[in-house]
Amino acid sequence: MSNRHFVVIGAGIVGISAALYLQKDGHQVTVVDRVDPGEGTSKGNAAVIASESCIPVATPGILWDVPKMLMDPLGPLAIRWSYLPKLAPWLMRFVAASGEKKVEQISIALRSALTQALPAHKELASLAGQSLMIKETGWLGIFEKDEKFASYQWDLALQKRRGIEFQILKQEEIRQFEPSLQPLYKHAVYYPENAYVTDNFALVQRLAAHFVSAGGRILKSEVQGFEIGPAGPTHVRAGGDKIACDDVVVACGAWSKKLAKLLGHNVPLETERGYHVTLPKAGKMPRMPLYSGDHSFAITPLEVGLRFAGTVELGGLEAEPNYARAEKLMVHGRRMFGDLNEEGRSDWMGFRPSMPDSVPVISQGGRFRNTYFSFGHGHIGLTLGPVTGRIIADLAAGRDPGLDLRPFRIDRF
Ligand SMILES: Cc1cc2nc3c(=O)[nH]c(=O)nc-3n(C[C@H](O)[C@H](O)[C@H](O)COP(=O)(O)OP(=O)(O)OC[C@H]3O[C@@H](n4cnc5c(N)ncnc54)[C@H](O)[C@@H]3O)c2cc1C
Repeated sequence: MSNRHFVVIGAGIVGISAALYLQKDGHQVTVVDRVDPGEGTSKGNAAVIASESCIPVATPGILWDVPKMLMDPLGPLAIRWSYLPKLAPWLMRFVAASGEKKVEQISIALRSALTQALPAHKELASLAGQSLMIKETGWLGIFEKDEKFASYQWDLALQKRRGIEFQILKQEEIRQFEPSLQPLYKHAVYYPENAYVTDNFALVQRLAAHFVSAGGRILKSEVQGFEIGPAGPTHVRAGGDKIACDDVVVACGAWSKKLAKLLGHNVPLETERGYHVTLPKAGKMPRMPLYSGDHSFAITPLEVGLRFAGTVELGGLEAEPNYARAEKLMVHGRRMFGDLNEEGRSDWMGFRPSMPDSVPVISQGGRFRNTYFSFGHGHIGLTLGPVTGRIIADLAAGRDPGLDLRPFRIDRF
């Protein structure tokens, strides 16, 4: 049993995973969140453990897409005009990260963590008695348009260089493989390594419940700041309380910027807002998660219903949701499956925490050794949450995390 007390700020998949791995190492751990576990962005994602997802959002040529992003508020990648002045510094870094060489390096870094994603998920799920929540089905990318599939060849070549396995399906094989789909699709790519979680929100809740049953503490409170001594934070200030701590982990997803700054790091963190529609009685259920290569969103057969999730809207943390974007997902969804029962439909928006290079921060503080940062997981936070937690515990223990962490450092920009 260690005598170190860690305060983990944030009870999403990333924070709860860090809390569990730190607890497993025998530390005393308190998690603080202003909402209940999993109620942040982790609540509504597409639940895919996307081990193949090593390609950053900004790829070569993205600069030429920026005008389109500004002109089409319902496009798969859109920028809100009113947010452009605030977004500009991040956008410049985003474009700068899109060069061929940089993308190659990013894919190497992401893949080094992604190969460990599923094992870490299985380890935590088993610890919490929830192994059945992880389904190792693979996932299927589907394409209606020849030109979309032609441009996807670039992605496939990069994935091949990273050792990702996939299988190309011919038109006549697609419906046999996934009978729930309308006969529209000319091309498909099957990724056997990918998996999904039957209910992403319930997973976080159940992992959190296990953490508590094993002696962990969860406080519902908003963290405002820290008391900082010569060697780093000594207390976390939350609500009217001061919580004494030996170490602090910032895992506040899209809201991490302010607390990271108070601990000495100015990070270019933005949010890529995403939407979902969940149909509890859809009447159609694919065998595995799907990805629309034509319109860039995921479709997942969850316990709570069929979920259509994705799209990127660069609009900051304050603006109201634009649910026309969710409806756009359904326009494509109806075409994909034909008849869908939309009774009980629920629409949602969430804030992906996004670094300009699509690489999360998984890092020990340079300013104070007793500070740890785990945020900025963008599109792959569910996937990388558990392995991130394991790496944070490795850093705290001085163990080799088994991958090069330089690309994940908080001070890389
Ligand atoms: C539409 C959509 C689909 C997605 N699909 C997938 C997918 O299929 N696979 C995948 O891997 N990823 C997916 N993602 C991304 C994934 O959901 C996120 O990367 C992930 O949830 C981030 O987890 P987190 O724990 O960092 O953040 P969150 O879940 O947002 O947790 C952060 C927590 O910090 C708390 N907090 C913030 N500030 C404070 C404070 N000052 N005091 C106290 N608490 C605070 C918040 O209340 C919140 O609960 C998707 C995202 C979206 C939007």
